[in-house]
Amino acid sequence: MGEMEDLRVTECTRCPALVESRSQIVNGVGPEDADLLFVGEGPGANEDQQGEPFVGRSGSVLDDGLRTVGLARADVRITNCVRCRPPENRDPTTEELEHCRGYLEREIDRLDPEVIVTLGKVPSEHLLERSVAVTKEAGSLEEVRIGDTPRRVLLCVHPAATLYDRSQEETFENALQRAAELAGVADSESGQTRLDGF
Ligand code: URA
Repeated sequence: MGEMEDLRVTECTRCPALVESRSQIVNGVGPEDADLLFVGEGPGANEDQQGEPFVGRSGSVLDDGLRTVGLARADVRITNCVRCRPPENRDPTTEELEHCRGYLEREIDRLDPEVIVTLGKVPSEHLLERSVAVTKEAGSLEEVRIGDTPRRVLLCVHPAATLYDRSQEETFENALQRAAELAGVADSESGQTRLDGF
């Protein structure tokens, strides 16, 4: 079994409701040595169909944001708190989050990323283990123990938030810019300079 293979969950029946609602388990994508790890909530309909995180509209927003700060989707790792689509896109329950926690911790430990970026309220609260007002706190960095290791977690709004509220676009991109800088992967041409070039 290759190194990449054993981060993949290929069978799991811990959450009866999710086993029922999923068409497949959606594992993380991207390099195993990525400096940046993005963590979403859980697969939506598109992700469930295609077997990859953030491939729908939220995925396009994420890809665009990454490009704006000089990164490509292939440069980063992208995963979710739960790997199976919840019914009617409801939030994963505390129990479901706990069931999937070990898979996420194993992925974090293997990657040992410079920065973990939480996309939205659910992953922010899950990793920080406190309530989070993500719109207010987006862009802030916190050190938290995940498993046995202190990790740098940067809070970010969910990409879909920018679709409902245009004023969130700047919040989103600023957080991505800060993440790229903290991880040491920011492109000197990124940010405003790069935008001006288009
Ligand atoms: N939203 C998420 O939180 N995760 C995905 O994979 C897609 C949309």
